Amino acid sequence: MEAISDDVLKRTHTCGQLRDTDIGAKVSLAGWVRSYRDHGGVVFIDLRDRDGITQVVFDLPAEGDQAAQAMYELARALRNEWVIAVTGKVRSRGCERENPKLPTGKIEVLGESLTVLNRSDTVPFEPDEFGSVSEETRLKYRYIDLRRPVMARALTLRHRICKAMRDVLDAKGFLEVETPFLTKSTPEGARDFLVPSRMSQACFYALPQSPQLFKQILMVGGLDKYFQIVRCFRDEDLRANRQPEFTQLDMEMAFVSERDVIGVTNDVLRAVCAAAGKSFPDEVPRISHAEAMDKYGCDRPDTRFEMFLHDVGDIVKDCEFKVFSATVAPGGLVKALAVGGGAKFTRKEIDGYTAYAGDFGAKGLAWCKIENGEFTGTPAKFLSEGVQARLREVCSAGEGDILFFVADTPANTNKILAALRLKIAGDLKLFDADEFAWCWVVDWPLVEWDAEAGRWDSMHHPFTSPRLTDADKLESDPGAVMARAYDIVCNGVELGGGSIRIHDPQLQRRAFSLLGIGEDEAAEKFGFLLDALRYGAPPHGGIALGLDRIVMMMVGAPSLRDVIAFPKTQRGVCPLTGAPAEVDDKQLSELDLKIIVPPE
Ligand code: ASP
Repeated sequence: MEAISDDVLKRTHTCGQLRDTDIGAKVSLAGWVRSYRDHGGVVFIDLRDRDGITQVVFDLPAEGDQAAQAMYELARALRNEWVIAVTGKVRSRGCERENPKLPTGKIEVLGESLTVLNRSDTVPFEPDEFGSVSEETRLKYRYIDLRRPVMARALTLRHRICKAMRDVLDAKGFLEVETPFLTKSTPEGARDFLVPSRMSQACFYALPQSPQLFKQILMVGGLDKYFQIVRCFRDEDLRANRQPEFTQLDMEMAFVSERDVIGVTNDVLRAVCAAAGKSFPDEVPRISHAEAMDKYGCDRPDTRFEMFLHDVGDIVKDCEFKVFSATVAPGGLVKALAVGGGAKFTRKEIDGYTAYAGDFGAKGLAWCKIENGEFTGTPAKFLSEGVQARLREVCSAGEGDILFFVADTPANTNKILAALRLKIAGDLKLFDADEFAWCWVVDWPLVEWDAEAGRWDSMHHPFTSPRLTDADKLESDPGAVMARAYDIVCNGVELGGGSIRIHDPQLQRRAFSLLGIGEDEAAEKFGFLLDALRYGAPPHGGIALGLDRIVMMMVGAPSLRDVIAFPKTQRGVCPLTGAPAEVDDKQLSELDLKIIVPPE
C-alpha cells in the first residue's frame, strides 16, 4: 500500500454533518464503504463513520482525463468496509433522489479525489445485517458490530450520561477518587473474583464487588463528597441481564441524612434524563418496602400501572376451598390479582398464565371470573356469597373481571403474582414502552431471616445503619429493626440503592454479631474499617447507581450487552479475546500454582 500523506487524513466534516446549506462547499470525508453501486457511468458509495452516512458519487470522467479516469476505476474497485478518504463538492441530490431517512439525504458529495486508506477482507457479516448472525459472532467481531449506527448512538449516549453525572457532581463539590481493584474481599454478598499474588505466596487479591469500604474510609479521611464511575466485579451465575463486570456511579457523602442522598441522586438522574432527552419528575414518589411487597409483591415495583395484588387471607381463611384455608393457618399467604376485563381471557390464555406462573414455582393458579354477576371457576362453589362480596370489594373487582389467586408461602405467593402481574400488564399493554415511572423504595427492614442458613442476613449490606430509634431491638427483635436504606426504581427495575452507614464502631460490632460475624471474623475481614471508625468517623451515607442499566433504559435497548463496548456472554466469556483462557506453565509456576484437573 502506498504511503498516505497526512493531508489526506484531514477531514472537514463527519459523515453525518452535511446538509443542503453546505451545497457548493468543498469537503473532505473519511470512513468505511457501507455499500457501493456501479450504475455504469456513475458509481455511488455510501460512506459511513460513527456520525452517519453520506452518499459520494463518482461520475464517468470526460475521455482523455487520465487522472480522473484512474480515480473512477479506483471507485469502481471499492468494496464493502474498505476505508477511504474522499474530497469533493457538495451538491443537491435533486428532489426525486432525496433520501428522507438520512439527515444527509438531501445532498451528495461529487468525488474529486479518492484515496484507499485500507482494504478489508470480506467481512463475516455486514454491520447492517447484524440480525442474521448469532450474538456470539457479533461479539467475536465486535469491531464490525460497533460500526452499526445503533451501537455508536448507544456509546455516545453513555458518554453523555457519564458527563452529565460528572458535571452535576462536580458542581456540587464532589471529588472523583479512584479506589483499588486489587483489594480484599468486599461485602456485597456475591462470589469474589480472585487474583493470585506472585509476591505473597498462597495469597490472593479479590476484585472489588463495589468500593463500599473504601468510600466509607474516604469519609473518615475527610474527603466529604466522593463519587466514582467505577467497575465492580461479581462472580455470580449470570442471569439474563447481568455482567460479571459492570459499572456503577458510586457516591458517598459525610454529614448527611437520607433526604440529602436522595436529593443529590434525584439531581443526578434529572441531568441523566435531560442528556437522554427524557423528563424526570419534580417529585419522585416514595413507597415503603412493606407497601411495595403488599401491593406489587416485590421490592422493585413497576408503578407504570396499578393492577395491585390484594391480601385476601382474612377473607378466605375459613372458606371451604381448602387450597386457600389450609394455606392461611400455618402462616401462608393468599393473594388475589384482579384483572379488569380479564373475564374475556380464553381457556387457552388462562392455561398459558398457569404455565407462566408454574415457571415461577406455582403449583397451580386458581381463578374466578365474574360473569353475569356470578363467580365462575373452580373455587367459586366453595366461596360463600359473603366471601365473594368481600373479595369483589377488596379487589375492586366488577363485572367482566377475572381474579387470579395464589396460596403459598408469603415469599412464593408474592414472587408468583408479581411475575404474573407484569406478564398480564405487558400482554394487555397497560403501559407505553417509552414511559418512565420512578419511585424510591424506603423503610426497609435491616435484616431478613435466611431459613436455609438459619441466620439473619442483611437486606442491604452489613454497614447499613439501623434506624437509631430501633437500635435497642437489634438483639431482642432483629426482624422489627428498620434500616436507613433506600432504592431507586424505574419501571420495575432497581437502578440503584444505598444507605446511611453505621459510623459508631460499637454499633457496627453489634450489627456484625447479629449477622453471625463474630469478633475474630470481623477483625479479620473488616478490621481496617472497624479501626477507621474508631478514629473520628463522621456520620455518612451514600448510594450506587447501575450505569449500564441506566443507559440501557435510556437507549431503550433490550440487553445490557447493547450498551457495553466489550461485554461478556452469559457464560462469562469474551468471544473477542477468548477470555477466560488457560495460562502457560511459566506463569503458573511463578504464582506457585498447579492445575489439578479432576478425573472425569
Ligand atoms: N455498595 C453498595 C452496592 O454496590 C451501594 C451502596 O450502599 O452505596 O450495592
